[in-house]
Amino acid sequence: MEFIEIAKVCEKVSMTRKRNEKIKIIADFLGKLRPEEVAPSTLLITGKVFSDLEQKPLEVGYVTLIKALNTKKQGTLFQRRLSILDVKKAFEEIASASGKNSRIKKESILKSLLSNASELERKYIIKNIFGEMQHGVGEGLILQAIAYAINANEEEVRKAYMFLGDIGETARVALTGGINAIRNTNLELFRPVKPMLAEMSYNFEEPLREHGGKSAVEIKFDGARVQVHKKGNKIKIYSRRLSDVTESLPDVREEVKNELKAEEAVLDGEVIAIGTEGKPLPFQELMRRFGRIKEVQKKIKEIKLKLYVFDLLYLDGRVLVDETYENRTNKLYDIVGNLSTAPRIIATNVDEIKSFFERAIREGHEGVMAKALRSNYIPGSREKKWFKLKSADTLDLVIVGADWGYGRRTGWLSDYYLAVLNEEKNQFEVVGKTFKGLTDEEFKQMTKRLQELKTRETKHTVFVRPEIVVEVAYSEIQRSPTYSSGYALRFARITRIREDKSAYDIATIKEVKRRYLEQFKYKGKIE
Ligand code: AMP
Repeated sequence: MEFIEIAKVCEKVSMTRKRNEKIKIIADFLGKLRPEEVAPSTLLITGKVFSDLEQKPLEVGYVTLIKALNTKKQGTLFQRRLSILDVKKAFEEIASASGKNSRIKKESILKSLLSNASELERKYIIKNIFGEMQHGVGEGLILQAIAYAINANEEEVRKAYMFLGDIGETARVALTGGINAIRNTNLELFRPVKPMLAEMSYNFEEPLREHGGKSAVEIKFDGARVQVHKKGNKIKIYSRRLSDVTESLPDVREEVKNELKAEEAVLDGEVIAIGTEGKPLPFQELMRRFGRIKEVQKKIKEIKLKLYVFDLLYLDGRVLVDETYENRTNKLYDIVGNLSTAPRIIATNVDEIKSFFERAIREGHEGVMAKALRSNYIPGSREKKWFKLKSADTLDLVIVGADWGYGRRTGWLSDYYLAVLNEEKNQFEVVGKTFKGLTDEEFKQMTKRLQELKTRETKHTVFVRPEIVVEVAYSEIQRSPTYSSGYALRFARITRIREDKSAYDIATIKEVKRRYLEQFKYKGKIE
C-alpha cells in the first residue's frame, strides 16, 4: 500500500475529536493492510518509526533535515509513488548509517525520500522524525483500534501487548492471527516483557489499607531495572526499555549462571553500583557501566555492580505471572542460590513499615516498595498492587525545549522545559522549567545533545524532540494557567538524567493530577 494512505489516515483522525471515530478509522485502515505492512504502519501512525524493542535512534539533526527539505522536488513525471515499506526501509537506512560520513549518508537518504514525497507525505514523514504526531492517537487508542478490528476485548489485546512489548507486533499478531493468536500470546524466554511498576504512596497507611492489612515491604534500590532470562547456559539481561544489555554486564551474567538453581527462568530485579564497603553508589556511577559496551573489562574493575532479585516470572516451562507475589517469591527463594534477594519484611502495621523505611534510607537506598502478597504480576502496569515510598517527591519528565543561559551560563542551553506525557492525546505537555541540578560538565553535554535533537528555534529557545528523560524533585504541584498541562511544579530541580528511560516511560498527566490532589491529604508525612 502507498504511504500516502497513512498520511490520509493521520489527517482524518486529526479532523475528528471523537475517540470512537478515530478508533474506527484506524481499525478500518489496519484491516486493509498486507501482513508485512501492519507493524510498520502502526508505528508510523503513532510517530514512533521503530518499536521500543528495536530502539534505533534516527539521529537526524535539525540541520540535516533543513538541508534535505531544501532540495528541489523531482519532476512529477518521474516521481515514484512511495509505498509504506519504502518509507520504513528509508528510515531503517537512516538509522543504521554510521561512521565518519554518517551525517552525509543520512542526509542523502532523507533527501531522496523527501523528494519522492508529496506535500502531505512530507508532513507525516517529518512528524515521524520529530516524534510528535499531534493527532490525538496514543497507545491506548491504537490498542482499542486493534481490538475493534478483530472484534476482541480491549483487555485481551492489552495483555498480549504487555507480553509482546511492541505495539506494531501486537497489531501484526492480531490482524494476521485474529483473536486466538491474541489470546495465546504469553511470556516467552528471550522475549522480555515490560516490568511491573509501582504507584507513589505519600504515607505509610495507604499500602496496608489497599493490601488488606498486610504488605511485603522491600528495599527500593536506586539502580536500574533488569530482567534476566535463562535457558541452560544461555543468559540474557534486558533493561527496563527491553534492550539487551547482556554485553555490558558480563559479571552479572556469570553470577546468575553460577548461582541460579533452575534450568529455565525469568527473574526481575535491580542492578546497583556499589562502593568499597558494599554501600550503594549514586545512580550516575551505575550509568557509566549500564548499557555501555566499550572497555567493559576495565570498567568491571572500576565499578562493582550488584544484582538484587525480587521476582520470578517464569520457571522451568511455567509462566508465573498469574500466581501471587507470595508464591512467586517463595519459588524464587528456592532457586536463587547465593544471589542476593531484596531484603524485605512482611508488615502488618505502620510502625513496621516506617522503621524499615528508615533503615533503607540509613543504608543509602531510595526508600521502600510495598507489595500486595496476593497480587499477580501485570507487565507494564502501574497500580496500587505495588507502592513506592520515597523520601523526596520526584517525577520523571522529558525535556522538550531549553533556553540559552546568560551570565555564568552563557553559551549553554541551561534552562529546561520539562514535560509530562498526556497519554490520551499522545503528546507532551509542559509542567515546569528549571536550570537547577546539573553540573557544569552536564550543562555542556546537555547543550550538545539538545542541539542534535533540535526541531525548531527562536532567539532564546531551542525546541527539541522529546528524548532526554530527567528525574525532577519539586516541593509542590500547583495549578497553572500558563502551562499547557494545567499544572506547574514549584522549585523544580533535576536530580538525575535517566538514560534508562524513554519518553514513553515518564510521568503521565494523570499521575500529576493524582499527586496534585493527594498532596492535600498527605503532604509532609514522610520526613
Ligand atoms: P520509579 O522508577 O521511581 O517509578 O520506581 C520504580 C522502580 O524502582 C522500578 O522500575 C525498579 O527499577 C526500582 N526498584 C528498586 N527496588 C525495587 C524493588 N524492590 N521492587 C521493585 N522495583 C524496585
